Amino acid sequence: MSLRWRRALLKISGEVLGGKEGPLDKGAFSFYAGEIGRAREAGAELSVVVGGGNVARGAALAFLPPTAGHTLGMLGTLLNGVALREFLLAQGIPALLMSALPVEGVAEPVDPWRAREALAKGTVVVFAGGTGDPFVTTDTAAVIRALSVGAEVVLKASKVPGLFDDDPQRNPKARVIPKLSHGEYLARGLRVMDGAAVAIAGENSLPIVIFQVDREGAVLEALSGKRGSLIGGDG
Ligand code: UDP
Repeated sequence: MSLRWRRALLKISGEVLGGKEGPLDKGAFSFYAGEIGRAREAGAELSVVVGGGNVARGAALAFLPPTAGHTLGMLGTLLNGVALREFLLAQGIPALLMSALPVEGVAEPVDPWRAREALAKGTVVVFAGGTGDPFVTTDTAAVIRALSVGAEVVLKASKVPGLFDDDPQRNPKARVIPKLSHGEYLARGLRVMDGAAVAIAGENSLPIVIFQVDREGAVLEALSGKRGSLIGGDG
């Protein structure tokens, strides 16, 4: 399978990392490490932004002032980052963990130059801690990290096949939109990817693929342009 993009940033939301056994699902981490390894073997330079919705979401912690709630959300992404790094290393994949909220001895600070150097050597760079700032999401972090390491695309792993032209729960005839521009995405008020993230991506002509991860090889297929909905991608 030939790659459409060689340097890519994979966004893994918390919702696909959690499971029945608890907020962190062993099977999910092992699966994603395998997917990342497969893409790397095919020649992709992959960095990853992990979400944190499986651990904590700022908006759901209404008993705390918002800044504290969002901070817990960002710290949740760090749990996912530590676990993902371990699963990557266990599969023999060199991996580096950088966090916008660094923890000495656990996750080093985000450094785009060091990240690029590592990526060029075949190391997978996992970014945790979101942007480091409250009131935004890890989708925005994914776009910012992609731009700062020179990734050509953001691949957002999802539970659904892509963007639909209508609510598939209510309209059985709803279809997956194969391609649309950043502006169209925003004008339609779609919500699968955070609007702020899509706006920044649009300003910088960074394409985004929303794709379903329902079987092995899905990440590689998305990297080959054979899966999901593409936002942008002409520039
Ligand atoms: N968050 C934040 N700033 C960021 C990224 C995340 O404050 O730059 C907080 C926010 O409260 C969010 C939570 O961390 O709800 C978890 O991130 P997100 O919802 O993006 O995770 P995902 O939906 O991808 O699992």
